[in-house]
Amino acid sequence: ARTPLIAGNWKMNLDHLQSIAFVQKLAWSLRDANLDFGSVEVAVFPPFTDLRSVQTLVSADDLPIAFGAQDLSAHDSGAYTGEISGAFLAALDARYVIIGHSERRQYHGETDELIAAKVAAAHRHGLVPIICVGETAEDLETHGPSAVPVAQLRIALEGVVAGSEIVVAYEPVWAIGSGQAATSAQAQQVCEALRAVVAEVLGDEAAAATRILYGGSVKAANIAGFLKEPDVDGALVGGASLQLEEFASIVRFKS
Ligand code: 13P
Repeated sequence: ARTPLIAGNWKMNLDHLQSIAFVQKLAWSLRDANLDFGSVEVAVFPPFTDLRSVQTLVSADDLPIAFGAQDLSAHDSGAYTGEISGAFLAALDARYVIIGHSERRQYHGETDELIAAKVAAAHRHGLVPIICVGETAEDLETHGPSAVPVAQLRIALEGVVAGSEIVVAYEPVWAIGSGQAATSAQAQQVCEALRAVVAEVLGDEAAAATRILYGGSVKAANIAGFLKEPDVDGALVGGASLQLEEFASIVRFKS
């Protein structure tokens, strides 16, 4: 069975001092609630400038919280001003990296081809890419629910070496930060189609092992519904991941 992953994408929020306080309190809160850390994986995605602080805290206190970056460069080193290499993230013990978030696609012109190159870069450094796909409201109207995310995933997977771990995140753009989450049935429909793409490209075994997350206005009140669906294996949480008790409740969706 796939261990659910609850991932908090902080976006451009919390500086390194705030990140330490937040992660420490999150760990305390989950321990106080006797969370079974074997039954759900918790991960946070702070800004780059916080990662060293989070690493230091997590390793010093042996906290059961994984972390990753919100992006990486498609290149490994060199004259790429402002970019961050996957090698640097790996050196900080980051486990994951979010790739192709709709905000990167929208505000930074990231194409499916660039995203495939970033997925390959993540794997070169032993990072697990969380590949984000999702349709806009306009796409939904024109092409129906699965066509755009499926097409995006097909291209992103061109960068994957067989046998390397991936996570897929289905985030309908219309549901992000809008308070209008998809219904769990909508999420299931698309996540099932995305799993079929993983099966087609990487094989049935990889498809059965791959976690597919839903993201877009996830909160404590709707998480359990998503996680009941057979093809939804966790959540990529934005706004609610910055609210300590709300995020802790999402992580404890079973209780
Ligand atoms: P919200 O949870 O704020 O809708 O954001 C979702 C998201 O973009 C996570 O990556």
